Amino acid sequence: MPDTTSMDPQPNELAAEKYLLQLRSTFEKLPHDIPLYLFSEKGHEDIFTHANRQVIRAFRELSPKITLREYDLGHELAHKWNVTASPTLLIAPERYSIRWLGAPMGEEARTFLETLILVGLGQSNLSDQSLKVIKRIDSPRNIKIFVSPTCPYCPQQAVNAVKAAVELPEYVSVEIIDIQCEPELANQYSAQSVPQAFANDILIGQGAQPEEVFLLSLQKLEAQTIFIPESDAELIESDLVIVGGGPAGLTAGIYAVRSGLQTAVVEREALGGQVATTPIVENYPGFTQVGGKTLVDIMVSHALQYVQIFQGEAVIDIQPGHPITVRTTRRKFQTKTVLIATGARHRHLNVPGESRLAGRGVSYCSTCDGPLFKGKKVVMVGGGNSAVTEALHLFHMGVDVTLIHRRDALRAQEFLVKQLFDNNIPILWNSEVKEIRGEQRVEEIVTLNNKTNVTSVFKTDGVFLAIGYEPAVELAQKLELKITPDGYIWHDGKHRTNVPGIYSAGDVEGGYKQIVTASGQGAEAAMTIFEDLINPYWLKDRN
Ligand code: NAP
Repeated sequence: MPDTTSMDPQPNELAAEKYLLQLRSTFEKLPHDIPLYLFSEKGHEDIFTHANRQVIRAFRELSPKITLREYDLGHELAHKWNVTASPTLLIAPERYSIRWLGAPMGEEARTFLETLILVGLGQSNLSDQSLKVIKRIDSPRNIKIFVSPTCPYCPQQAVNAVKAAVELPEYVSVEIIDIQCEPELANQYSAQSVPQAFANDILIGQGAQPEEVFLLSLQKLEAQTIFIPESDAELIESDLVIVGGGPAGLTAGIYAVRSGLQTAVVEREALGGQVATTPIVENYPGFTQVGGKTLVDIMVSHALQYVQIFQGEAVIDIQPGHPITVRTTRRKFQTKTVLIATGARHRHLNVPGESRLAGRGVSYCSTCDGPLFKGKKVVMVGGGNSAVTEALHLFHMGVDVTLIHRRDALRAQEFLVKQLFDNNIPILWNSEVKEIRGEQRVEEIVTLNNKTNVTSVFKTDGVFLAIGYEPAVELAQKLELKITPDGYIWHDGKHRTNVPGIYSAGDVEGGYKQIVTASGQGAEAAMTIFEDLINPYWLKDRN
């Protein structure tokens, strides 16, 4: 039995003492003072004000740099710093805009400690990648992070926000809000789970996000799920450069790197290609039903485990040779092979009013723009899988949608057509859209019934177009790749184009244009490239 009456310190007491010594030494080295200002309602002593004092007293024992001043809400400083809630704790308000609504109790003590250190340091300690993102912020970001003392995930998200406020005090302000202290405010923001992060009143994160993802969400003012590291390299040498980050390109990236090829994926726009804007995917094996964007996020996260992705840079030139030179808007690649997986682009109707009213009622993306038309009347033009999928998506969203098709039969899959009929979605058969009219926004369309030759005017708030895709073959044409009579890249059945070292995969090759077939073509192309690099067919041809 241990002698409990002994005055010798117990092991956990020794550990605590050691930890306190370390903390004191950390605070001693901090170059800046850490003034705290606690505001509360005069004569009203609530548990949160009391808890603030207790927590701060404990922290003040660590360093004389931490000071506390207390004021009531009527004080001129409360007016100066726009403090209206009791209690509110401000941290170094002359330098930063960081405030606590509540008290840093429980798990939040971790956030508080880290905040004190960052403020004392006068540095955010953000990663290099995060610094690149935050530098792009050039307008105010008012962050609200809803937390609770019992939430172990909250400190990570709250510290992300504090780091942003320390790095960019001219633009970033942070309020850390304890939902138990401020239930009405939490209710107003529907913050029923914590942590939840809002910036300029837009939800930018639910749950704890990795630092880079949080900053990207803060910069874009939109919740992000993935962060793609940026590279500063001017010249990159590789075995394979994949142009296009849709299912074909991403799958090829995974296969190529797993085969040992040094590989880069370059995508000028959003990753995922058409899948990213597909409302719901129901025929990708393993997922009975998955949102297109969610499927893309899963694919991108998977690909990032292997391959470096260069997003937001366009390939502007490819010079064949040994090595092949690929120039993008950001850098140069020297590579042994190139895979063109540029996919396809929305086909346009090319009728009067279409381009003038694009973005003002004319849309090519129901996932993106559909919510703006809730309760309104729109038409969906097309008769393929995309048009029917998207018409159903709009219908379920509460949009009054009519399908307009130029023939009297749909080419969409039976399963989708049945849903269209089951939901009584109106269809204008044999109808061609001849004109889109409206002053500032879409107001009506002119249709021609090609059976009766009757022209009609149809009042509508929006025109959604899903009339197929044109292959993106500009690069292929520049490279003088052989193009099929249908306008797709020609290949030899193993994804080799007519130019040695240049390959193709996915929708740019034509074919079935399904997510699963594009992925399959990407995998096949990567395996051909691997085999060819071991045993180059272009050298054999020379002998
Ligand atoms: P699509 O299958 O080529 O269908 C295009 C539709 O637009 C056709 O109904 C076509 O009419 C019509 N159209 C074309 N040009 C037109 C014009 N100038 N004016 C009026 N109508 C015009 O294209 P998609 O539906 O975008 O699909 C593309 C590919 O993705 C397809 O291979 C499709 O199977 C695939 N996809 C699959 C799914 C799925 O499996 N759930 C979902 C989306 C897309 P006609 O019928 O008269 O030619």
